[in-house]
Amino acid sequence: MDAAALLADGRVHAVLRHVDEDLAAEQRAAGCPRCGARLHSAQYPRKPRGVPGAWRAQYDRRLSLCCAREGCRKRATPASVRFLGPKVYVSAVVVLMAALRCGPSPARCRVLEELVGVSRRTIARWRRWWTEKLIDTPFWRAAAGTLMPPVASSQLPAALLERFGAHPRDRLLAALRWLSPITTRSAAAHAT
Ligand SMILES: [Zn+2]
Repeated sequence: MDAAALLADGRVHAVLRHVDEDLAAEQRAAGCPRCGARLHSAQYPRKPRGVPGAWRAQYDRRLSLCCAREGCRKRATPASVRFLGPKVYVSAVVVLMAALRCGPSPARCRVLEELVGVSRRTIARWRRWWTEKLIDTPFWRAAAGTLMPPVASSQLPAALLERFGAHPRDRLLAALRWLSPITTRSAAAHAT
């Protein structure tokens, strides 16, 4: 899998943005989760890291909504394929960099580290997030059962990507879509 090519592919970033807009539209159509009233747009500005400069504008806001009714004003933040909870690096980078097997080709890994500006220590931390924290969440315990045979948690996230099609781009997009429920507030509380 050529992670550098995927991260430099404008179609990847555009599709992820569209998917997030669809997820927000679904949330908006459902109305306030507390009182059912109409939802207003209430986006969070983001300063994403790990995205090549040309595509950074696709990541400048986390889409979010807020109840329009006085006295309720409940915030409803839809799931996202672009932002893995509060992490400052965008989801695609957290998945692709953590999936790299750096052993046999350290030179290629250095190129990627320079492209997205992430240190080896950060990548090691992400690996621990995948292999230790994520697997301990209610989301994972429920969703992992849909993957048969089960994925080896020590091989995450590479083992997860391998379950989603043959083309690297489709595989990344499908994996991010599958993971997106973890990015909502209730799920993220257990996974950050
Ligand atoms: Zn409400």
